[in-house]
Amino acid sequence: MSKPLNDLMLRALHRSAIRCKVPWAVALEVLARDARCVYCAKLFCEASGLRSTFPTWDSLNAGKKPTVDDVVLCCIGCKASKGRKPLRLWLQSGYCRQHNIELRMFAPVALRHVKHAADPTG
Ligand SMILES: [Zn+2]
Repeated sequence: MSKPLNDLMLRALHRSAIRCKVPWAVALEVLARDARCVYCAKLFCEASGLRSTFPTWDSLNAGKKPTVDDVVLCCIGCKASKGRKPLRLWLQSGYCRQHNIELRMFAPVALRHVKHAADPTG
């Protein structure tokens, strides 16, 4: 009856990849890697149809040329809450407390970035 959600997601992701200037070749590799939100670990295929559970692109190195190592997929909820905050700072936010989001839930790609990131105060 209705179209499969994955198809909807893929088309939304294609549009947003263009908007976010993520090359589709990079996007496809990220899509193959990130089956769940890299922050809250929510599986995208379990997305209920609520917009906040849809996957979207995020950059771990805003301003840099998008590569597979710094483009990630996260849910719209996490992206909206995180914005441009450094990950360590965002982890202390009310959103993360409310959703029980902790560093140990991060996907390896995001975890690596937190470990390498400079101290948020410096
Ligand atoms: Zn999330």
